[in-house]
Amino acid sequence: MNIHPKIQKLLDDISVKNILSLLELDDFSSVFEYADKINYLNHGKYIDIRAIVEFSNYCKRKCKYCGLNSTNSSAKRYRMTEKEIIHTAIEARKAGYLTAVLQSGEDSYFTVEKLGFIIKEIKKQVDMFITLSCGEKTFEELTYLKECRADRYLLKHETADDLLYDRLHPCGTLVNRTECLRNLKKLGYESGGGFMIGLPTQSLETIAKDIFLLYDLQCDMAGIGPFIPHPETELNNYSAGSTELTKKAVAITRIILPKANLPATTSLGVLDSKENNNLFSCGANVIMRKVTPPEYVKLYEIYPTDINVKNIEEERKELELAIRTLEKIPR
Ligand code: SF4
Repeated sequence: MNIHPKIQKLLDDISVKNILSLLELDDFSSVFEYADKINYLNHGKYIDIRAIVEFSNYCKRKCKYCGLNSTNSSAKRYRMTEKEIIHTAIEARKAGYLTAVLQSGEDSYFTVEKLGFIIKEIKKQVDMFITLSCGEKTFEELTYLKECRADRYLLKHETADDLLYDRLHPCGTLVNRTECLRNLKKLGYESGGGFMIGLPTQSLETIAKDIFLLYDLQCDMAGIGPFIPHPETELNNYSAGSTELTKKAVAITRIILPKANLPATTSLGVLDSKENNNLFSCGANVIMRKVTPPEYVKLYEIYPTDINVKNIEEERKELELAIRTLEKIPR
């Protein structure tokens, strides 16, 4: 296969400049093709399906794009009980999921002791990987959760632009975020970063910096999805991010992080389910599926969705069928 000269340049020197130069290409088809080939060489035809359990929508932070932010008084808040969380993860394992992603806002109620108990109980009862996605934690807290056998941790950096980060995140800094991601690597977690496409004032160069940061952090996973405006946030009047640009960012990430797990994110599926499928031909190898109980799933609204969960087992089967029709193998 002939490699486009700009891809070769990037492979020779992974830099923001060379990522940007790829993003600026008018005809991106050879990049998609190359990313697909790299994906096949590293992950074969497998699509890994992860079960997401959204166990609390309480959050102490005030991220300007997020429907769960603490200033949104119209959000109806919930917390699943420890028993419910453990039960849902076990049901997901019975339906065939090998990984449960336990996700929440930054909710102080769920101390690391509580989270540790939940992880240990799930691991005691079923053989399953546990990914946590519950916001920033100290080195000591992450050490404790690792001792409780958490396998992976997702913590999207959201944007690598300092100024934009500060504007969107009144409760945190990019320095702390990246420090936390570096700590995850040090502690032996599979670490997951990620960012949004289409944030206000974001440029192609910002996106190039975002992709480079994933490389710099040597992320094992990266969630890249379009920004979707939530009506109850300050960014409600902005347009949603481009699905095409999202696919381009995923493809470049695949090229520079060949072994990383790259999900076709749920936000992309919300905008366009066809694009979600297409992502599997330009570098993504993972899909996340909500298994949050029906009474809570509508309340976990970082961005508006019409996703519902009826039956964990049936939905898993439907998804497996859809993956097979793309000539991929669900796992
Ligand atoms: S993005 Fe995460 S940390 Fe920020 S308000 Fe939403 S749930 Fe909380």
